Amino acid sequence: MEFHQPTTLDDALTLLAADPEALPLAGGATLVAMLNAELIEPSALVSLGGICELHTIEATPEGGLRLGAMLSHATLASEARLTGGNAVMRQAAAQIAHPAVRNIGTLGGAVAHGDPSSDLPAALVAADAVIEVAGPSGRRSIAAEGFFEDYLTTALEEGEMVAAVILPPQPESAVGHYEKFARVHGDYATLSVAVVLAMASGKCSHVRIALGAAGATPVRVVAAEARLIGSSLDAGAISEAAALLTAASDPVDDVRGSADYRLMLVPRLLTRALAAAGGAP
Ligand SMILES: Cc1cc2nc3c(=O)[nH]c(=O)nc-3n(C[C@H](O)[C@H](O)[C@H](O)COP(=O)(O)OP(=O)(O)OC[C@H]3O[C@@H](n4cnc5c(N)ncnc54)[C@H](O)[C@@H]3O)c2cc1C
Repeated sequence: MEFHQPTTLDDALTLLAADPEALPLAGGATLVAMLNAELIEPSALVSLGGICELHTIEATPEGGLRLGAMLSHATLASEARLTGGNAVMRQAAAQIAHPAVRNIGTLGGAVAHGDPSSDLPAALVAADAVIEVAGPSGRRSIAAEGFFEDYLTTALEEGEMVAAVILPPQPESAVGHYEKFARVHGDYATLSVAVVLAMASGKCSHVRIALGAAGATPVRVVAAEARLIGSSLDAGAISEAAALLTAASDPVDDVRGSADYRLMLVPRLLTRALAAAGGAP
């Protein structure tokens, strides 16, 4: 197996284009485990660690943030600019596994891997993030909501990489919250709820909700959000929104919880997430 250490994104893309069996290597948190388990057999690894562009955090002209793909979860968890609605990303990153995993695991690796039980995808959908993809034919932007297509399957095409994630400016008074329920601290989620919420005069003026570990991709239901907007987030409105989210969910039965158990968690975690974001008693 060959090992490449390019220092520019263009060189990484050229290496990937030249060898369809080559894989990008971010922190290796998942990739090395998959190699050890002989689940993958790449002809080459293209390490992204030396590409400066992928390690940057920049404000966008629109007032949002552009997060480079190689930012570690630990960096995101302590990023002071992830405030207001975008705090949902900071909170999700802070709840990933343990410090050792947070220090090596990366934003781009988590996004590209597309594991529905992982924490960042739901937070990205709730924040209405856009995934910036670089490939042989240039760059393109894909809304997070459309990026995660199926279990471990994303919109990335052959030779493409995640270059960055763009977080938009959130509504003025928005608050983000990530509510994760796991069997033990540091485990993958049994179920999670990512929320970006804004209240105005006691009524919900903006809300985006995405469930993690509730299906093959993050679950978002526009009708559930519509039920909450304009309401005071009373128990009835939350219960109806939760019922819509539950109906759209299709979780797996696994060691982290049965499908029924996960569905039962939806209204409970939604209530907690909205309360933590400042919208419910
Ligand atoms: C013990 C353990 C516990 C974990 N617990 C959690 C948890 O609780 N919650 C959670 O959300 N996650 C968890 N993870 C996942 C972890 O946080 C990482 O996000 C994930 O492993 C990806 O790691 P990485 O960034 O090092 O990518 P790698 O392992 O290097 O790569 C993963 C895959 O993505 C591809 N890839 C990497 N970067 C890019 C890119 N920029 N563009 C295109 N493709 C790319 C690689 O080719 C590979 O296929 C856990 C991982 C481990 C090992």
